[in-house]
Amino acid sequence: MNQSPATGAALKADTDPITAAWEQIRTGLRRDCGARTFDGWLRPIMLGGFDAGTGILSLELPSQFMADWVRTHFAERLALAWRSALPSIRQVEIGVGANSPRTAVDIPAPPLVEDAPESKGGLYAAQLEPRYRLDNFVVGKANEVAFNAARTLAANDKVAFNPLFLHGGTGRGKTHLLHAIGHEFRARRPNANIIYMSAEKFMVEFVAALRANETIRFKQQLRSADLLMIDDVQFIAGKESTQEEFFHTMNEIISAGRRLVISSDRAPQDLDGIEPRILSRLSWGLVADINAADLELRLNIIIKKLEALPDVAVPQDVVMFLAKRISSNVRELEGALNRIAAYAAMTSRVIDLDFVSEVLANILRANQRRISIDEIQGKVSDHYRIRKAEMTSARRAREVARPRQVAMYLSKQLTPRSLPEIGRRFGGRDHTTVIHAVRQIEKLRALDAELDADIRLLTRQLES
Ligand code: ADP
Ligand code: MG
Repeated sequence: MNQSPATGAALKADTDPITAAWEQIRTGLRRDCGARTFDGWLRPIMLGGFDAGTGILSLELPSQFMADWVRTHFAERLALAWRSALPSIRQVEIGVGANSPRTAVDIPAPPLVEDAPESKGGLYAAQLEPRYRLDNFVVGKANEVAFNAARTLAANDKVAFNPLFLHGGTGRGKTHLLHAIGHEFRARRPNANIIYMSAEKFMVEFVAALRANETIRFKQQLRSADLLMIDDVQFIAGKESTQEEFFHTMNEIISAGRRLVISSDRAPQDLDGIEPRILSRLSWGLVADINAADLELRLNIIIKKLEALPDVAVPQDVVMFLAKRISSNVRELEGALNRIAAYAAMTSRVIDLDFVSEVLANILRANQRRISIDEIQGKVSDHYRIRKAEMTSARRAREVARPRQVAMYLSKQLTPRSLPEIGRRFGGRDHTTVIHAVRQIEKLRALDAELDADIRLLTRQLES
């Protein structure tokens, strides 16, 4: 190859490798994150300066809140990518570009109570659920960013981000946080006009207003909110006219310096059919996700919820059992506790592991990890040291036929698949073959301690 040494370009020699590395890193990010995340969040990153003395490279974004978002979600990845591309870079700092326009800063809250005008009420004044408060929301790693953002938005006189976009799967506390924001905001400013609405209600009201020729009034109502909260916005994504109206409202609320909170079961860039300009509007605010609760958070939630049920004595091992076994979401965990409390009140039995397993049988089953036939075939062939292909082969030699029967038996026990379906997955065998295998293994288990032990071991491994 024809390497040309960088002669006479002393100034450029420092920046060139950085620019080149940045191109390479960007290509990698685009591939790893997908075009939408990349375009929304990462493309706007500009190279700032590099200080060769300290090894600090700065990256710049057009707004504080894009910078915060990128720092939260990509700081580690960016640092790693840069360090491996150019070892001279020891640290990456993510900030706001010096001459970027500052967007969405210092949103003043409505005037304090003393001098507030008569603005309370309104057609859509929020009915807030008294149970959903900040002080009974249990904070852990999965939700601390969302919680802190919620508290800041509700409590501070000025907030530096707007809107707040909370997203996460069902039952993780989004609605709880929205109502909690409302309570906190109202406690500080009793005359503020707070509107909480599900996106579904928004749509129904909007369509009704259209029919009654009252869209102007509808818009005025919403736009007079000091705090507007729209829950489950994924509901209107893709519903064109409603979506358009919503995003107009959103724009006006933000421009008027009023606070907006939106929740969704997915990230902004994963909402269907939302225009890029709207996405970028959202990205000026703070996007915070709520992850699935880890074991520690689940434990703390159970303990907190039990404090509210003083008549129900739940021993430590049961608390641990519930936290371990009910991992789908907080709503299910809450449902389980209520069910235990209700049953315990009706019978005089003590709450122990037996009682709980019985009362919660359905919930526990639904929370079990889904085991696939493929996994079973893999584990069983490993265990008996045969090729996995033998699971679907036609060979009848005993050393492969018996393991195959074991795998069919486990498929029947550990998956919800029907007999014909299981047969199909074992090389297109008939369902009667599966029945035969299941009976055969049941019979043998009673006679053959070694086989029985094999099956217990395999079951344990598959279930863990
Ligand atoms: P989402 O709106 O995300 O589907 P919800 O806000 O309806 O979830 O939460 C479901 C239930 O779980 C509610 O009763 C809520 O109070 C409770 N919950 C969720 N997360 C927490 C938490 N971190 N602390 C206390 N309760 C929680
Ligand atoms: Mg909800």
